[in-house]
Amino acid sequence: MKGRYGFDALFIGMAVLAGLWRLLGIPMSRLRFIDSSAFNAISIFILILAFGRVFSTQLAKRSMENIRFKKFMAPAARKVRLLRNMWKDRRTHSFVKCDCKKVLRVPKVKGVHTVKCPACGRSFEVKI
Ligand SMILES: [Zn+2]
Repeated sequence: MKGRYGFDALFIGMAVLAGLWRLLGIPMSRLRFIDSSAFNAISIFILILAFGRVFSTQLAKRSMENIRFKKFMAPAARKVRLLRNMWKDRRTHSFVKCDCKKVLRVPKVKGVHTVKCPACGRSFEVKI
């Protein structure tokens, strides 16, 4: 692996895409829309591209591809992180959404609370 690029986030993304693509082929072939071998071929092609990146010696190009991929996936990653935090704090905190779409974490204490959004500065009341 010396001088080779190696594994990165884009590789994982491509492997997941290949797996999902292959799984998508199963119901499609059951419904007889299309032969599942076409889905399998595309899935294998994606995996070949992914491993081609891993063993590439053009480190700068592969690194730029990975940076673009991470930038593209940033909104989804932020959403996943928010959902994970909401699940983790679900017993101690409530989550309310401001009009500016910012999600605010409020301690789970019964009553009416005044909340100020740190993003837009708007104050509003929340009943828990
Ligand atoms: Zn706000």
